[in-house]
Amino acid sequence: MTSMQNTIVALKTQLDEKIWSDDQERLAPFLQEWRGRWHGNTPLLLRPRTTLEVAAIIKICAAHKTPITVQGGNTGLVGGQMPQGEILLSTQNLNHIRAAHFDDMSMVCEAGVTLQNAQNAADNLGLKFPLSLASQGSCTIGGNLSTNAGGVHVLKYGTAKDLVFGVEAVLPNGEIFNGLSSLRKDNTGYDLSKLLLGAEGTLGIITAASLKLFPKPKETIRVMAAAASPAQALAFLNIARVGNHLSMFELIPDLGMEYVTTHIPNMRSPFSTSHPWYVLLDWEFDTDNGAAGFAENLLSQASEQGHIQDAVIAASQSQAEALSALRENLSAAQKPVGATIKHDITVPISQVPTFIKQANTALLANIPHCRPLPFGHLGDGNIHYNIGQPEGMDSAKFMSQEETVNNIVYDIVDALGGSISAEHGIGILKKDQLAKRSDTAKASMMKTIKTALDPDGILNPRLIF
Ligand SMILES: Cc1cc2nc3c(=O)[nH]c(=O)nc-3n(C[C@H](O)[C@H](O)[C@H](O)COP(=O)(O)OP(=O)(O)OC[C@H]3O[C@@H](n4cnc5c(N)ncnc54)[C@H](O)[C@@H]3O)c2cc1C
Repeated sequence: MTSMQNTIVALKTQLDEKIWSDDQERLAPFLQEWRGRWHGNTPLLLRPRTTLEVAAIIKICAAHKTPITVQGGNTGLVGGQMPQGEILLSTQNLNHIRAAHFDDMSMVCEAGVTLQNAQNAADNLGLKFPLSLASQGSCTIGGNLSTNAGGVHVLKYGTAKDLVFGVEAVLPNGEIFNGLSSLRKDNTGYDLSKLLLGAEGTLGIITAASLKLFPKPKETIRVMAAAASPAQALAFLNIARVGNHLSMFELIPDLGMEYVTTHIPNMRSPFSTSHPWYVLLDWEFDTDNGAAGFAENLLSQASEQGHIQDAVIAASQSQAEALSALRENLSAAQKPVGATIKHDITVPISQVPTFIKQANTALLANIPHCRPLPFGHLGDGNIHYNIGQPEGMDSAKFMSQEETVNNIVYDIVDALGGSISAEHGIGILKKDQLAKRSDTAKASMMKTIKTALDPDGILNPRLIF
């Protein structure tokens, strides 16, 4: 018998049969993802319910040097959660909120708790967990921390890494590391929890996390404004962040608005005419006094200085949600338009207009009539730079140019001092580009750490390197 077959026999005989399955029908949803880009295969799916069960699984896999892939909500965009013949461990059943403390402003969630459920639990406690992504109904806390997810509130609250005190994890030898605490100060050597954040499951399986909660704002004002160019939107950002109330600042091109309002049911632009660019923003206030006046004042300043062409302030919760839906549906709205080559890049905020201009010019010169659609988190310099195929072009022919397109985009990113992965991670998708572009000392330190913790390379073995 092969080592994989021996491992499967050991897992099936030593674990409760409720937590494993090799029924291909039950496995199917775990082996495809919403974009249809990644497809997986596995001989066995494991759905442990406790940290001890995760540890038991990893000990068996470690003893046989058998590789294992970890999956949370299966919303990752770089292919890391999709097994290619490895055993698949889903955290879906690690879904309890173990504790929530108002005074400590902290909450301990198991890894498989969805982001939406974590937000709701914080809300029930009278506090806020500010991580916010369009995938929040499905993505999990473990996945969010392993990818160091960003989302729309990074400019005020930081990325997932900034929203956690510590984690509990099962290490590649099956040992349980307990970094759960709610201490705001703890200088007792290396911060080992941090090592696991953004590690994409290559150094340990996060089983629970102690999350940082924040006071709920008394009032949030949501605005959609229209701008002539990314440079004008940036000038508006400089006005909008005065007073430190800004918690979201998202850029949408008119092509994106056209796709969303055409391809997603019940979506309408709040403006009667189209504009080249739009910005969706939130201002949060700790008091309910003076918020409206503050917003109107900043919008008039931006308008008088010519940075915005029009603006609407959401007058109700449902209007605020309708404005957000225009941004949240941007990814889904690109699907019917054909193949898209996607990038998740970050540059210094000041360089976003230059990046968009240079990338659009270079790509249109290389692939005439391609349709660049740059959108996303202007407030923190993170742009999702998607390029749609020219109308009528064969999708496969367009996708065959992916590497050339990537090199054009990433060369510009490098020249502007940016990063080729802002918030989605490296996974499978970007590992060649990382190898090509990474600082050599960083690459060698990362390999040293991986080898020290996982000498047999059993955890998420195909990722990053
Ligand atoms: C519509 C849409 C919008 C999105 N918007 C954003 C956005 O604004 N910002 C953003 O950052 N991302 C965004 N994403 C990407 C995705 O939602 C995030 O990367 C999310 O953090 C992944 O969480 P998940 O639970 O789905 O993880 P999965 O997809 O299951 O896994 C992602 C990676 O983490 C590893 N992993 C998962 N759980 C664990 C664990 N417990 N321990 C160790 N490793 C683990 C997996 O092996 C894999 O490598 C979006 C995705 C979609 C589909």
